[in-house]
Amino acid sequence: MLKRYLLAPGPTPVPPEVLLAMARPMIHHRAPEFDPIFAEVREGLKWLYQTRNDVLMLAASGTGGMEGAVSNFLSPGDKALYVNGGKFGERWGKLCKTFGVQASEIKVEWGQAVDPHQVADALKKDPSIKAVYVQASETSTGVSHDVKALGEVVKGYENTILVVDAITALGVFDIKTDAWGLDVVITGSQKALMLPPGMAFVSVSDKAWALADKAKNAAFYFNFKKERETQTKNQTAWTPTVSLIVGLQEVFRIMKAEGLENMFARQGRLALAMREGVKAAGMALFAKESPSDALTAVCAPDGIDGQAIYKNLRVQYGMTAAGGQDHLKGKIFRLSHMGYADSFDVIAALAATEMVLKGLGHSVKLGSGVGKAQEILMAK
Ligand SMILES: *Cc1c(COP(=O)(O)O)cnc(C)c1O
Repeated sequence: MLKRYLLAPGPTPVPPEVLLAMARPMIHHRAPEFDPIFAEVREGLKWLYQTRNDVLMLAASGTGGMEGAVSNFLSPGDKALYVNGGKFGERWGKLCKTFGVQASEIKVEWGQAVDPHQVADALKKDPSIKAVYVQASETSTGVSHDVKALGEVVKGYENTILVVDAITALGVFDIKTDAWGLDVVITGSQKALMLPPGMAFVSVSDKAWALADKAKNAAFYFNFKKERETQTKNQTAWTPTVSLIVGLQEVFRIMKAEGLENMFARQGRLALAMREGVKAAGMALFAKESPSDALTAVCAPDGIDGQAIYKNLRVQYGMTAAGGQDHLKGKIFRLSHMGYADSFDVIAALAATEMVLKGLGHSVKLGSGVGKAQEILMAK
């Protein structure tokens, strides 16, 4: 027998209480019993997002939310700016192209964070840019971009919105949607929200709704205005992910029992223990600056194939992590600690990584990373 551990940056483990809630008999989404569940979840989302805006729920993976955040706000020929510092940043460019949006890119070296001055300069040069697209946490590199600073920049432009992919940020670290002026914030169910894949969530500010009123791109399934109309009545335009919504009700009960501050503190502590553990075991972090607290991207030691580390973690120790994408394939591997994670997930991940490295012939002192992590985790 091999006990399985899920340490990939999505999907992430689902707490047993949530699994049990989702196993309850199916209810009908147009029946009265759905109404209070949907209402509670809508309220929970506002709490998590720290917003007064409505947060739309969509039956889609996170990318569906990203697509809607292009199609609902921009028209063909409109200008946009996107931060491309990894696989997910790149996706903004592809989405804009799909909808005829003229998108210019701020290219950021993988492993680094965007300099907000670059965004400020680009907007100064061309104030007709209608939307700025960015990730709060770039999952392919394990780097977080300073969306608070970007909010400050974009706030100054009456007709420009800031769209934040916070799919591996919301629920991990502080994201103050309203206070920071984040117009559209997207997340997904299968990352820090501790649910199976299948839902995208999108908050929309008044500034963004005003832009949506003028947008001419076609939007049928991901029609945010139609969703807003129905969701404020505790209904959805199409059949919702009933079981996931029931699960989300349970997720918010767990999150609220811990509290936002404590949740961010726990996630931050786990991330710190992982990073320091990785370094103490003689490895280097891939993030050159602002590492994301959601996951840790680790450079494979010289002469060791990152894909072999990732594969051996799974095959030998039942631990599913993630490899690197595109040109980082074989160079890095990624360990997640977001969502339903505690001290012993970090310790297990470090222990298994040390064992795999040693098994691959790398000289690593067993327990070196684990010991460092234990010290940090005890210091709380
Ligand atoms: C997971 C993820 C997405 C969404 O991917 P899906 O596979 O469509 O759920 C988008 N952005 C980031 C930063 C992610 O980590």
